[in-house]
Amino acid sequence: MADSEKEATEAPTIFDKIIKKEIPSTVVYEDDKVLAFRDIAPQAPTHILIIPKIKDGLSGLSKAEERHVEILGHLLYIAKLVAKQEGLGDGFRIVINDGNDAGQSVYHLHVHLLGGRQMNWPPG
Ligand code: ADP
Repeated sequence: MADSEKEATEAPTIFDKIIKKEIPSTVVYEDDKVLAFRDIAPQAPTHILIIPKIKDGLSGLSKAEERHVEILGHLLYIAKLVAKQEGLGDGFRIVINDGNDAGQSVYHLHVHLLGGRQMNWPPG
């Protein structure tokens, strides 16, 4: 990996400040590995972000390596638990935006959990 790419991969984002509680967020679930909090610009009645507390190079899913398999599985499992906690029994959607074409704006891996309304397909 080129030095500039490594820097971008490791660069801190606003989510580091949320993890350290340096800026406020509405946390709905937390354990030693992940944090789940409400999105500041919700795209559905329920819109929660689930993120790893330790970035470990995961600026996005495209940076995933074998060592990340456990945290990737944990993020999805917690998304399911939070969906239940939020009462999304009629369904929910999980989104991971990766890179420019997907409109990723924060380069710290995050799983979007969306629910509380009928979702459309294909997504925009
Ligand atoms: P996009 O910005 O296009 O949705 P991402 O998949 O990178 O792309 O999503 C980043 C998400 O982080 C956005 O939904 C945005 O509203 C959310 N966000 C940014 N800053 C905060 C914050 N301080 N608290 C909660 N959510 C935030």
